[in-house]
This record gives sequence, structure tokens and C-alpha cells, in this order.
Amino acid sequence: MAGPRLRSSRAGGLSAMIVTTLLACTASAPASAPSHAAVPEWIDGAVCYEVFVRSFQDSDGDGIGDLQGLISRLDYINDGSARTQRDLGAGCIWLMPVARSPSYHGYDVADYYAVDPDYGTNEDFRLLVSEAHRRGIRVLVDMVLNHISSDHPAFQAALHDTTTPFRSWFRFLPEHPGVRNPWGGDNWHRSPVRDEYYYGFFWHGMPDLNLENPAVREEAKRIATYWLEDMGVDGFRLDAIKYLIEDGHDIQDTPGTHEFLREYAAHVRSVSPDAFTVGEVWDSTAVVMQYYPDQLDAYFAFEVADSIVAAVRSGSARGLLDPVLRLQQALPRNRFATFVRNHDQTRTMTALDGDVRSAKLTAAILLTLPGVPFIYYGEEIGMTGDKPDERIRTPMQWSAQPGAGFTRVSPWQPLQTDSLRTHVAAQDGDPGSLLNLNRRLIHLRASNRALALGELIPLRTTSDAMTAWLRRDGEGLMLFVGNLADTVTAGTALDGAHRALRAGTYDARDLLTGRAAASVAVSEDGRIERYVPFAEMSAKDFVLLELAHRQ
Ligand code: CA
Repeated sequence: MAGPRLRSSRAGGLSAMIVTTLLACTASAPASAPSHAAVPEWIDGAVCYEVFVRSFQDSDGDGIGDLQGLISRLDYINDGSARTQRDLGAGCIWLMPVARSPSYHGYDVADYYAVDPDYGTNEDFRLLVSEAHRRGIRVLVDMVLNHISSDHPAFQAALHDTTTPFRSWFRFLPEHPGVRNPWGGDNWHRSPVRDEYYYGFFWHGMPDLNLENPAVREEAKRIATYWLEDMGVDGFRLDAIKYLIEDGHDIQDTPGTHEFLREYAAHVRSVSPDAFTVGEVWDSTAVVMQYYPDQLDAYFAFEVADSIVAAVRSGSARGLLDPVLRLQQALPRNRFATFVRNHDQTRTMTALDGDVRSAKLTAAILLTLPGVPFIYYGEEIGMTGDKPDERIRTPMQWSAQPGAGFTRVSPWQPLQTDSLRTHVAAQDGDPGSLLNLNRRLIHLRASNRALALGELIPLRTTSDAMTAWLRRDGEGLMLFVGNLADTVTAGTALDGAHRALRAGTYDARDLLTGRAAASVAVSEDGRIERYVPFAEMSAKDFVLLELAHRQ
């Protein structure tokens, strides 16, 4: 266990190591009985907001967002009062990497124990955590373990000194192995120092860590302990975990990767039982399922995201619910994370060709389906952006002021061309805005068990353009109905949920407008039969009804 260290941080306690070992030994239950069936309670009903610190708020006038800026905007994310709805109401933030890095995005870390000077200091970070916690916001940080920056002292030592213990932190070969990765790229990079090659999945500036080396595994755990205990975070978003450990020419989803994740997650739980871990496995649901039951708490459901965007774009509900139903069937609740778009993807509004009604429908679908929803900053106001990456990570548009209220100088990245039109200030007081829809739904989710935790029960509709489902938790019952079409849909009837519901009549109330809707009859065999909620429904419109059994 006594591998080389770059820094002496806290000594890992012996008791923590024993717990880790015990957890690792019991972590082999079948999928039907996950060893970590429940996520931390705080995640139930929480929506997580993904923040790129560089683009959120500049506090010191260098055009770069920073931690003090984020602190000054925390009330926008959650003001800590359940009574107000002028905040988003998010229960959690995920910060893209904040550790010291030579790149603007931070996914190549040069020092895992220090906040990037562009963003502030470790003290600023601790203040951010305490200010977030004061408002009921949990803090997740991005943890990049597949690779580090080629600037990192460990890699520099390994490059320049073949006798250093850091050599075994990376994978070197005297000759190029002559293979390419499954996408045709070359993962073996020529050393700038001598005649040899090293492995880096993403690019030469990101050498992969050799996580088969026990010393590297211990260092990864030590870093986790530092952020949990010294910095006070509530968990991690783990980057690119498909590629953690290679197995010969097999570079994705290897047994070694699963084994490492088991060990790592057990360590995180032993240090902080209340921590939440969510991993990026950018692949199909079938592949994601290999990462359960006993590794991280949750993974992003890329197929759910794709199916939402595809349904809203195409106007057809066919297949919309398939990925989320599959996850629901296989997993305990809230062990998967839903989203529409993240920092690696074209922004939703751009994908929807700027159609605000479609963006509202998309948000409503995300926030009424099961799972832990994540919202990328700016999505809640419909910011636009397309590749290259810098253009999907542009400064938050707060107002029509110069610098969009993000900075008083020239921003690190030019604003989007719609920054004078699309901003928080323009939507803040408009009850019909995308921002206020997001606020309303996020708050509802935080206070409504059926929306937060309820079982998803799909309903049949008489039109391909219409989608409808129930969320049920005990007596709590919600009905979502959406028209995906570009045209008015008339007289659509819903039915289904055989044996799922208590027979009788249910009063229906529109949760977003407070208006009553047509009551719902449930037959003796527990089924909704030909319920027509509205005579017609506008293009891309939706309703969220609360159903109450009439006594
Ligand atoms: Ca700044």
C-alpha cells in the first residue's frame, strides 16, 4: 500500500481500510439484490444543476468565471427557502473540474489537491461548500481518474526518469504496438524525451493512469478522501469510466474497470456514507447495466436523453419511454441519472431549432420521468450552442448588460449571438417563460413523492403523437400527457394500467395552472379506459395532472 506519493495528505485511517475491505468482500450480489440498494436520502427529489465554473459568473473582472462568482449566484440555484420559487430549487450542483489544470475545461488535472488559480483558492472552495450547504445544495465535483495532465509532476517524472516509481503510474512501451483503437485513432503517443511510447486514450496531453497499480489506486482513494473530508463535497461525478483499465487490446468496460469501481465506491462510502457517485458511461443502456449493482450509485442514462430529444424532434412518442422503463425495471429507484444535454453535446435549444415550445416540452418530460435529473447550466433559459466544445460552454446569460451580467470585461469566450434576447432577466418575471417552467417543475419534484420516487406506468394513447404516463407512489398519483406533434391533436383518449389503480373516480387538477380537468374513471380491474383529458391539445403542449381518488 505504500506507493509513491506526490503530496502527503491525510493518513487514511485503519478502520476506514477495514470497512473498505468488508464492503468490497460483500459486493457481489446479483442484480436482483443490489448490495447498495438505496442511494443517499438527500438525492430523492433533488434535481442536480451542472455548472461550468469558468462560464457561470466572474467576480474579479478577468473575464473568467470563478468560485466567488458562483457563490454570489447560489441564490439563483437555490435560495434555501422552500417558500420562494424565484430560485431554481436545485438540491445539488455538479461542478465540472475545478482542480488545477492547463486547459480551459479542466479535464486534464495537474494537481488534484488544489483549486485552479483561475477559479480561486481551496479556501474559496470550502466557502462555496458551506454557502451551498446553508441553502440545502449538495456539491458534487467532477473526478477525472482515467488520465491526468501531461503537465502533472508524476508524468513529467515518469517521462524524464526511467527509474522513478512514477514510471509504473503510466503505461510505456519501447515500440509502438501497431494497433489502433476501435474508432481508428491512435492511443499510443511518442514520448517527447526518448524513443518510446505511452498510452493516452483521449490525446497525448492526457496520459492514462495505470489504475492496475495499487499505488495509483491508493492515490485515487486518497484524493477522494481529501475532497470529501477536507473540502466537504457530497460526492463525485466520475469522468469517462468506460476507459479506466485496459485489458490487452480491450480498452472499454473491462473486468478490471468494474473491479476498480467496486473498490473505489466502497472507499467513498466508507469515508462518507452519505456521498453520491454518478458515472459517465457514454454508451447504450445494455453496456451501462454492466456497471451495476455494486459499483457507483448511478450512471447517466444517455439513451433516455437521446430518446427525449428524438421524440420531441420527430413528433412521435414511439419508443420514448423504452430506455427509462428498462432502467426502472432493473434498478432500485434513483440509481440512474437522467438529463437532456450535457457539456459535450449540442445544446437542447439548438437541437430543437430554437423552438421554445419544444424546449418546454423537453424540460417537462425530463422533470416528470423517474431518475435523478441533471440540468446543464443555461438549459433552463434555452441557451444555444453547437460544437466546437467551447461554443457549448459559453458564459451564462444573466442579463442584457454588456458581458451578459457574467463579467464587466470581455468574457473568456464570446457570448452567443442571442445573448441580448435570451437571458435570466428577460424570463425571470414572465410566468410563461422556460425558466419559470423549470423552476416550477423542480420545486414540484422536491415536494411531491410521486414525481420524485413514483413508479412510471405508461399509458396507451390513440395517437402516435401523444405520450402519457402515470407516476405513482402509494396514494400519490400524477398523470403526464404531452402532444409531441407540431399540430393540434384532438380527442386523444388514454387507457391502460391494468390492475395498477384502485377502482373509482379520480379528480384531476392541473398542477401548473391549478385548474380542474376532466375526472378519471378507473374500472374494477384497475384500468383507465378511454380517458379524454381535453377536447384538444395544442402543438407541443403538455399537462401535468394530480389525480386524487374521490372518497
Ligand atoms: Ca474571475
